[in-house]
Amino acid sequence: MPDPISDLFSAPLTFNWTLSFRCNFSCLHCYSREEIAQELSTGQNKQIVDLLAQRQVPFINFGGGEPLIRSDLYELASYATANGLNVSMNSNGWLVDEAAAEKLKSSGFRSVGISLDSADAQRHDEFRSMPGAFARATAALDALHAAGIKTTMSSVVSRINHESFRELLDLAEAHGVSQVYLHNFKCSGRGLTTAKSSI
Ligand code: SF4
Repeated sequence: MPDPISDLFSAPLTFNWTLSFRCNFSCLHCYSREEIAQELSTGQNKQIVDLLAQRQVPFINFGGGEPLIRSDLYELASYATANGLNVSMNSNGWLVDEAAAEKLKSSGFRSVGISLDSADAQRHDEFRSMPGAFARATAALDALHAAGIKTTMSSVVSRINHESFRELLDLAEAHGVSQVYLHNFKCSGRGLTTAKSSI
């Protein structure tokens, strides 16, 4: 006798997809920035999309590394959308200007998460080792919002924000963010190296 629950959950709901470990940032807490791996071609990645569509996986969430480092991100997202999948991604926001937001919208992105760790621009920039990161991240949220893409905000819980979540929520609200995700620090990659050196 068919089991409706087993049928419904016969595949993962979300495929979290690291297209690349490469990134334009070098955050001290990053769990993936030091990884080196050969990347799959666009054609190989489309074969993965085919497989996910066959297995009826409903959601793909691109992460990394910075997903926009891959110039074929839009093409892959369009392909996935055309095959019935819902696509989203997490980004540091640096490469998301108005033109990129429009391209993300037209390639089917339903939601984009931007990393923001503090409502204080200087603290965020220092934490991300990238001057201007806060300004570009908040501009990215505004550009995505204007393009009609739902936005979320991701924050790594740390010493720079654990006493100021109210300000983070106010920042999210001011930029039209739908949800705020708090992440634990992952003790691997560059994060592990940084943690060891600061003990
Ligand atoms: S934490 Fe994110 S933005 Fe920072 S280096 Fe890693 S992938 Fe890039």
